[in-house]
Amino acid sequence: MKRLIAVALLVLPSASLAAQAADPYLALARRVLRTTPLVDGHNDLPWRIREDTAARGDVEAYDLRKRTPGHTDIARLRRGMVGAQFWSIYIPGEIRDSGYARVQLEQFDIARRVIAKYPEILQSAPTVAAVRRAFAAKKVGSLLGLEGGHAIENSLGALRIYYDLGARYMTLTHNVTLDWADAALDSAKHGGLTRFGEEVVHEMNRLGMLLDLSHVSPGTMSDALNVTEAPVIFSHSGARALVDHRRNVPDSILARLPRNGGVVMVPFVTTFVSAALKAWEDSGAAARKGPRPHVGIAQVADHIDHVRKVAGVDHVGIGSDFDGITETPEGLEDVSTFPALFAELARRGWKEADLRKLAGENVLRVLDQAERVSARLKRARPPSPKTIRELDGPGAGQ
Ligand SMILES: [Zn+2]
Repeated sequence: MKRLIAVALLVLPSASLAAQAADPYLALARRVLRTTPLVDGHNDLPWRIREDTAARGDVEAYDLRKRTPGHTDIARLRRGMVGAQFWSIYIPGEIRDSGYARVQLEQFDIARRVIAKYPEILQSAPTVAAVRRAFAAKKVGSLLGLEGGHAIENSLGALRIYYDLGARYMTLTHNVTLDWADAALDSAKHGGLTRFGEEVVHEMNRLGMLLDLSHVSPGTMSDALNVTEAPVIFSHSGARALVDHRRNVPDSILARLPRNGGVVMVPFVTTFVSAALKAWEDSGAAARKGPRPHVGIAQVADHIDHVRKVAGVDHVGIGSDFDGITETPEGLEDVSTFPALFAELARRGWKEADLRKLAGENVLRVLDQAERVSARLKRARPPSPKTIRELDGPGAGQ
């Protein structure tokens, strides 16, 4: 017995040994994340680099080998045991000095240069097999997610080229309703997807690009679920039954996930996960009573538990939104904190196999199914030649 302890002391840094001895749930969390890739659905580092007041989009200047001013750097990715990351290549819905393509391509450039610059930790991993290979090599498998269908400018050709550049999901809308899809935070013009919107879904299925239904209206969620042949994701959305925020997912949609196979990846966005904070924000500065409500790990865990309760344990994941948010829950301050969330769930009774599903097995299953659907559809039909005017009428997209 004594001898075993002595060996353990030699192998483990004493701080982590002490922490694990004190907290068996944290020890379980770390064991899960050592052996299963934690796949985070949404991190906005590429836009964070562009907007950084010092680096101003300069990938060389925003040095991940040092402590960055944001939520993400190499040391903290290691401490957080991140196994794979969907890096968001978000662009805003309003760009004044050019079309969307220039900014979208610049964000691809930033994301791809970041992945290339840090080969000691980041590895491009656009398939499930590549994610598993990267994880085995102790790298963070890196995938790209296009945030906002406005980027394709009503063009299936643009969609295909963005796939070739590495985009493995597309959030159908950001905050602005498009010519072919309604957004959650904008007016509903179409009641969901137009016919061209459905064709976008068909083409994404053919390519093997995941549909991301975060940011879209419930009508668009429902239409997309009716049309898609592959499972969907919500890359960063909570449960609307807990917090009535339009960015969250209603129970009626959660209940459809077992049939579709998709995954809701719960974010660390304070106003999405805390009803008290949302009410406080909504009440307006003049009417506010008391201090700003506290948001902690428990609220994020509540959303994960709710998605599990309604959709099932096979349909829940994590999509932090780090570097896309300015405020974080206490205990989930940056990418180093993921193990604490898994420890909280273990404390609530989550079993090891279920923690693995939450961490990455669910979303990797979704990506694997999307790859299979793509292989089948590519044999069945060529790239779609359809245009928005052909499908939605001569005035569409003007
Ligand atoms: Zn977002």
